[in-house]
Amino acid sequence: MANLHFDNSAWRPDEDGGADLHLHTIRSDGSATPGQAVEKAQKVGLSAIGITDHDTTAGLPHAIRQGEKLGIEVIPGVELSASDHVGEIHIVGIFIDSKEKALANKLREIRRHRRERIAEMSERLAGMDVDVDPDTVLEIAGRGNPGRPHMAAALISAGYAANYNEAFRRYLGDNAPAYVPKLSLSPAEAIELIANAGGVSVLAHPLLTNRDELIPALAEAGLGAIEVFWAQQNEADFHYYLRLAHTHGLGLSGGSDWHGAWKDDSYLGRVRVPLECVERLRELAHAVRL
Ligand code: AMP
Ligand code: ZN
Ligand code: FE
Ligand code: FE
Repeated sequence: MANLHFDNSAWRPDEDGGADLHLHTIRSDGSATPGQAVEKAQKVGLSAIGITDHDTTAGLPHAIRQGEKLGIEVIPGVELSASDHVGEIHIVGIFIDSKEKALANKLREIRRHRRERIAEMSERLAGMDVDVDPDTVLEIAGRGNPGRPHMAAALISAGYAANYNEAFRRYLGDNAPAYVPKLSLSPAEAIELIANAGGVSVLAHPLLTNRDELIPALAEAGLGAIEVFWAQQNEADFHYYLRLAHTHGLGLSGGSDWHGAWKDDSYLGRVRVPLECVERLRELAHAVRL
């Protein structure tokens, strides 16, 4: 591997553009359609993107078609939540076969539970004299996968919170009173589902998750890579995760975790995974399939 350097700056036109391997669309909790995500990726000069919606692969066909038109490689992905007794970690699967049955069935079950969870969170809020109709939240989610960001939007528009942060602090955060956990996969189950679908499992945003002690066991369970490229970390963090990946024989992935206007719309492409790292991940996916 050529010497990798820390660079969270914008793309320079003399380079290949790199890849952003962690993006969300309206099919989960992003604001852009899959086609718009690809168009925007082209505008910022990316060569490849991974579409990694939470618990759904519904946006992939549209994104792949648009990618073929615009000359951007769209790598099929998904972001799964897994939990242990301490909390939740996110595992991104990339290079997955979204038609694989066991994965598709499990995603359907998780999505069904997400809708029930919105009703449960509404009940908890009602117990605090906060009146949010679950149907309103499902409407806000539209064709997306309903979750806490949509619930937060409903709370804000009904005047119960001034902004997103307040909605999470008072009601929806992991330690707040209206929080209901999602259908729970163990980390090993998440990795197995992804491997069965021919994909590479990637530990998402490790600095945010703050569970580095899990990495040896995850690697043992089949984790293929970690997100060493991430927009919200500094150069020392980057080198720390680079070393950690090396120690455990893991590939290098990463991305902006772009959600469009739901968070910071300028994030797309703020992280550039070198294409040689993408090729290494592709080889790992081929090895999974053998
Ligand atoms: P869900 O998948 O429904 O549990 O929603 C998770 C999403 O909620 C995450 O991807 C974040 O975008 C957002 N989120 C979780 N905790 C917070 C928080 N404390 N403040 C702001 N956003 C949060
Ligand atoms: Zn999200
Ligand atoms: Fe995540
Ligand atoms: Fe994400």
